[in-house]
Amino acid sequence: MKTNYDVVIVGGGVAGLSTAYYLMKRGKRVAVLEQYEVGNAFGASGDHGRVFRMTYGKDTFYTDLAVRSLALWKDVQKDAREELYMPIGVLDLAMGPGQYEDQCYQALKGMGLPVSKWSSAETHERYRIFNPRAFKFAVHHPDGGMLWAQRALNAFAHLAQSRGSRVFTKTRVTAVLRNKTDGVYGVRDASGKVYEGASYLFAAGAWTADLLNAYGLPIKPTRQELLYLRPPNNQGRYRPAHCPIFASVAKGFYGFPVHIHGFMKLGDHKKGKPGKPGQGTPEISPGFEKNARLFLRKLIPDLAGFSETEGKVCYYDNTPDDDFILDRLPDSPNAWVAAGFSGHGFKFGSLVGKTLADLLVDGKTELNQQRFRLTRFKLKEK
Ligand SMILES: Cc1cc2nc3c(=O)[nH]c(=O)nc-3n(C[C@H](O)[C@H](O)[C@H](O)COP(=O)(O)OP(=O)(O)OC[C@H]3O[C@@H](n4cnc5c(N)ncnc54)[C@H](O)[C@@H]3O)c2cc1C
Repeated sequence: MKTNYDVVIVGGGVAGLSTAYYLMKRGKRVAVLEQYEVGNAFGASGDHGRVFRMTYGKDTFYTDLAVRSLALWKDVQKDAREELYMPIGVLDLAMGPGQYEDQCYQALKGMGLPVSKWSSAETHERYRIFNPRAFKFAVHHPDGGMLWAQRALNAFAHLAQSRGSRVFTKTRVTAVLRNKTDGVYGVRDASGKVYEGASYLFAAGAWTADLLNAYGLPIKPTRQELLYLRPPNNQGRYRPAHCPIFASVAKGFYGFPVHIHGFMKLGDHKKGKPGKPGQGTPEISPGFEKNARLFLRKLIPDLAGFSETEGKVCYYDNTPDDDFILDRLPDSPNAWVAAGFSGHGFKFGSLVGKTLADLLVDGKTELNQQRFRLTRFKLKEK
């Protein structure tokens, strides 16, 4: 059986659903095919919170993208009529040489964005939880904060469907139908149903390289661990009013204040072991919890005694240069791929969605796509 849409999107994470939302705003009829549920625990977008930061060292390209994304997130938030972005500030702590943090400060200052550089004593003055002997100085930007990830996905799905688009959950695409003349002319799901569109977008996260295996996309997923922990005491000190998003690039760890059922969250941005969703144990390793405790013992000693925890595993879809892939598939003028977000894509979800909608409808976008082109790689097509 066949169904027909303006655009068929494979993947109901932030890339796929935000694109459906912006296509809806362009009056397009869209089908989003998601193998699990919206916000499922296997996808990279399926979590309570995601960091929104503007700090990218001296790489002002991404800082600029973050500024544009924030303006769009605020518009989506208005449309959704619920809080999607919590401006609680981001604190980059110089627990290493401090060069990266200094570059962050110079970059935001140079772009006229609100940012402060505090000594460790000044930081402790403002946020008592941090041990001033654990870091040299800190860079704080108030526009940083947390995005309510799950809420954002539900909002995109709800708003897109409010004007005729469809989100098909539990619908796993098992075949991409293509030929030399038309390029991609359909996708088939596990039940044999074929979905046809004028255009196609493949936004399947860590599954993209396998789904589009004919193209030899250079995406290497890694297994990333997260730890939800309940503060052992004085919970009030770890609420957003007294605890920002905090990060140490040198140590890799980043953390969220209490934000869900009394739990904080700690993650490590360093790339984990290669792996694929659904492979291996969903449990975090004892080593991760041990390292998290060691990190906290240094930076937030009162927190290191945590006992109640919940681990979570998901996957980064890494490209060799950590830049995204937002481009047409080589042999298909009507098919696009959005993947390779390399562990830092959620914050740009709004802008990525708008950009892809413009590319799918107009074939062009105001965004400089140079760093997101597939042509930067030598694809080993199969
Ligand atoms: C542990 C962790 C922490 C992170 N923290 C941050 C952060 O703080 N800030 C930030 O900006 N970014 C962060 N990221 C990165 C960010 O979450 C991702 O870049 C972003 O969510 C990617 O979205 P996506 O839509 O491309 O992929 P996903 O969210 O993975 O969505 C892809 C979807 O496609 C579906 N799918 C796959 N194959 C098929 C198929 N064959 N048929 C149908 N459906 C299919 C999957 O089920 C999945 O739901 C983090 C990522 C991880 C893993």
